Amino acid sequence: MRKKVIAGNWKMNKVLAEAEQFIADTKNSVPANDKVESVVCAPFVYLAALVDKAAGSDVKIAAQNMHFEDDGAFTGEVSPVMLKDIGVTYVVLGHSERREYFAETDETVNKKAHAAFNHGLTPIVCVGETLEQRESNETMTLVEDQVKKALAGLSEAQVKETIIAYEPIWAIGTGKTATSEQANEVCTHIRKVVAEAVSADAAEAVRIQYGGSVKPANVDELLSQSDIDGALVGGASLEADSFLKLVEAG
Ligand code: 13P
Repeated sequence: MRKKVIAGNWKMNKVLAEAEQFIADTKNSVPANDKVESVVCAPFVYLAALVDKAAGSDVKIAAQNMHFEDDGAFTGEVSPVMLKDIGVTYVVLGHSERREYFAETDETVNKKAHAAFNHGLTPIVCVGETLEQRESNETMTLVEDQVKKALAGLSEAQVKETIIAYEPIWAIGTGKTATSEQANEVCTHIRKVVAEAVSADAAEAVRIQYGGSVKPANVDELLSQSDIDGALVGGASLEADSFLKLVEAG
C-alpha cells in the first residue's frame, strides 16, 4: 500500500504570523500513521521558523523551489544544502507557475531532482498540460515526456522515493477540477511510463498526486482512484481547517 501524501502549496501567500499560526493550529491534529503524510510547502523566508514550529509533529515542511547547485554566485537563489541545513525535508520542483513565469525547464527540473537526492530531500515533481494541449490530445505524450526527462538518470531507489504531482494547468486556481476519471487516467499513464522507463517495482512504489482545485468536497472522490496517491493543493490548503479535512481524507 502506498502512503498517501497531502501537500499544501501556499505559493506566495501569508505573513510570518499567519504561517506560524497555521502550524500551531494543525501540528497536533495531523495523524501519525502509515496511511497519510502531511506536507506544508511554504515560502523560503518562513521555512526555518516553520521547521522549528512543527518540530515533534508529523507536519513536514517543504520548499516550493530551489537551485540545483550547492553554492556559488547565484544571487537570489536558495540551494539544497541550505534547505537540508535548516531541516526542510521535501521540495516542490517544476511547478507549472515556475515553468511559465520563471523559465523552469525539464532539464533544470532533472538537475534539481538529482540535487534533491544528493542532499536527502524528497522531490515533488510537477507535470501537467495546458488546456490547449489537452484539447489537441497531447496530454499523454507531453506528460510522458515531462516525467521521463525529470527522472532521467535517477536510480531505481530514488525513483521509488520520488513524488510526482500531476497538475493539469487548466485546473489550477480555476475551480475546474479534472474529473476523477480524467485525473486517474493520466496518473495511470504516468505509472506505466515509470514502469517502462525504470521498473515495475519503481512504478508500484512511486507516489502520484493530483493537483488542481482540490478541496474538501472533492478530495475523497479523487483519492479513491486507483492511481492517485495524494493531492497537491493550493487555495484550499491556506486555512488550517480545510487542510486538516484534506489530510483526514488521506
Ligand atoms: P489550486 O489548488 O489553488 O488549484 O492550486 C493547485 C496547485 O497549483 C498546487 O500546487
